[in-house]
Amino acid sequence: MRTALISDVHANLAALKAVLADIDARGVDRIVSLGDVVGYGPDPAECVDLVAERCEWSLLGNHDYAVLYEPTNFNAAAERAAFWTRAQLEPNPKWDSAVVERRWNFLGRMRVRLVEGEFLAVHGSPRKPVNEYIFPDDMSQSPAKLASIFSKIDHACLVGHTHVPGVFADDPEFFYVEDMDDGIFVIGGTEKVIINPGSVGQPRDQDPRASYAILETPGDERVAAGSKVHFHRVEYPIQETVDKICAIEALPNWLGERLLQGR
Ligand code: ZN
Repeated sequence: MRTALISDVHANLAALKAVLADIDARGVDRIVSLGDVVGYGPDPAECVDLVAERCEWSLLGNHDYAVLYEPTNFNAAAERAAFWTRAQLEPNPKWDSAVVERRWNFLGRMRVRLVEGEFLAVHGSPRKPVNEYIFPDDMSQSPAKLASIFSKIDHACLVGHTHVPGVFADDPEFFYVEDMDDGIFVIGGTEKVIINPGSVGQPRDQDPRASYAILETPGDERVAAGSKVHFHRVEYPIQETVDKICAIEALPNWLGERLLQGR
């Protein structure tokens, strides 16, 4: 079974379309979303529609939570962006009321945590599924935090949230994609791993291209051992998204500028 893992679309429609085209060209059995479909970007409604149409399921990210309920631990700019995002999804003469209702239903049905066999999927971490970050630096700087997180994982965990693609192993070690052969990580039989496909709509690893991964499970799709994770980067018309952000007063221009640098 080939599952495309997308995460942190952040209302970047140009990036999402490019990633979906790349996924279609490679061929997968299904696509799943690890959360933060909205927030920061200029096209929340269109991105919710596309994710709802193309993904088997989507988890709840902290930015989805902010739009549905309230922003928590957001800085002033992110909070303003969250309120602007919510306004775009509210009833509006631009949209049919059934379409508006369908979007809110999709957001409202997003799950905080999902288990499929040996795979656990959360937006942030198994300890705090919506909000906790698992950073590559935690490997050396917070070993107790990592140990606690790994204790909550059966075999493999899929996360997003940091916008940095790679794999944490419980040796402990963090594998950057550039250190993997051909961008492929193979899950071993006994190690525990945390897989982050990176961000579609706002990469933060100094590479501005959209990031996603394809998880290829051999035979039983619920067994992690022997599964391969292929990491992919996709060029997209970044300036298109930057121009849209700059034209929206509630979205600070640096939200666009950071996309050009991948930070
Ligand atoms: Zn995010």
